[in-house]
Amino acid sequence: MEIAAERIERLQDLARAAASNGEDDRARYYVRLARRIAERNRLSLPREFRRFTCDRCDAYLRPGTNARVRVRDGHVVITCDCGAHARYPYED
Ligand SMILES: [Zn+2]
Repeated sequence: MEIAAERIERLQDLARAAASNGEDDRARYYVRLARRIAERNRLSLPREFRRFTCDRCDAYLRPGTNARVRVRDGHVVITCDCGAHARYPYED
């Protein structure tokens, strides 16, 4: 695996850990760093990363804590505390 991809994966783990400790600002910092690395290296972010981060405020989303998850019309709708919605097709 490429070094950049490894770093992104590691940052995702750190963001998840920080978010579950309630350290939202730290989680955001890791999310932003990972996005920047992806951009600079022209990598696409892992699907899990895209689903569990907010495009608007870069929060690492924890359903039930700082995000709500609904299933509607065959889509999963994730709403961040900042008010941003993300829709994904319902699968796996
Ligand atoms: Zn948000």
